[in-house]
Amino acid sequence: MSKIEVGILGATGMVGQHFIKFLDGHPLFELAWLGASERSAGKRYTEAAKWHLGGNAPESAARLTVDEAKPGSAPKLLFSAMDASVATEIEQAFAKAGHVVVSNSRNHRMDKDVPLLVPEINADHLKLIPGQQALRGWKGQIVTNPNCSTIVLTMGLAPLAQFGITKIVTTTLQAVSGAGYPGVPSMDILGNVIPYIGNEEEKMQEETQKIMGTFAGDHIEPLAAKVSAHCNRVAVVDGHTVTVSVEFSSKPTEADLRNAFETFYAVPQQRSLPSAPKRPVQYMPEADRPQPRKDAERDRGMATFVGRLRPCPVFDWKFVALGHNTIRGAAGAAVLNAELMESEGLLR
Ligand code: NAP
Repeated sequence: MSKIEVGILGATGMVGQHFIKFLDGHPLFELAWLGASERSAGKRYTEAAKWHLGGNAPESAARLTVDEAKPGSAPKLLFSAMDASVATEIEQAFAKAGHVVVSNSRNHRMDKDVPLLVPEINADHLKLIPGQQALRGWKGQIVTNPNCSTIVLTMGLAPLAQFGITKIVTTTLQAVSGAGYPGVPSMDILGNVIPYIGNEEEKMQEETQKIMGTFAGDHIEPLAAKVSAHCNRVAVVDGHTVTVSVEFSSKPTEADLRNAFETFYAVPQQRSLPSAPKRPVQYMPEADRPQPRKDAERDRGMATFVGRLRPCPVFDWKFVALGHNTIRGAAGAAVLNAELMESEGLLR
């Protein structure tokens, strides 16, 4: 089968570069177009973008000239890593013009008719698309992936949803790469913890309820569980750690929960989607794991690692989860979403 041409909106930014790297050599998708601001338009990619990742920009991007982020010559499928200040109008303009916009930006995540997709958890939320197209009069569509800390929390919780989650308290230790480039000044973060990330706690709380909610015709009925998040920026380069205390309506044993983590297997694995980790949630039995430096990059940064499952004296159980914030929390998540859509026949 021939590859599907794809473009990247916001290709010069931090997440845009992760898209380029993640898509290099992809078996289904071929990079054909790069879009960014008028500051970059008309320049060769290597001239427009300062490459922040290891090595050089892949040839698949280096050979391309950056275009303005306007519908016209872009391919039908677009990954978006646009600055949030401009993503609303630009993504909508492309969807209106018939493009499939698989977005990493926060702008449309909580729109009632837009899937906030995690293929292991809510592949059926793609059923919102016909309603979105009818309501907005679009030939195209917008699908989003969650915030980088929310995806770690929801992937850690997904195997446990069967036990009836009623309350969640989570604390994050978030890597500096989540703030983009140049991000937090080194004088602020080195040897320090910053106990505030703008709007992050609200995003984690509401996105978790939507992702783990139920498709109800024209909207998602949110998960009824209460979610309380504390978000912190720490001096880690890549990999968000979240600690989680959780209360259940049924009272599972430790063996029930361990078994649920260890046997969790979902749609991307059943369909062998190219970017799906073989085991999406991996329990680490060691007392001091998972750790961002040692574990975040395993399985191409696409798996979620959990550990330290133990009783919680306030709720029922507590554990730690870790995921790669710029891969599974950004570019890799969006590519997996597009692979799911391809497997549903929505892209060709
Ligand atoms: P970034 O490095 O600042 O990149 C922003 C991109 O948007 C650049 O390509 C920039 O192009 C483009 N842009 C800015 N203004 C534009 C305009 N008027 N028209 C067209 N393009 C414009 O940001 P980032 O860290 O990659 O984040 C991108 C998005 O992903 C944000 O919405 C962010 O919230 C979200 N996100 C980031 C992370 C992360 O880990 N960093 C994780 C999850 C989600 P120029 O180079 O031409 O200015």
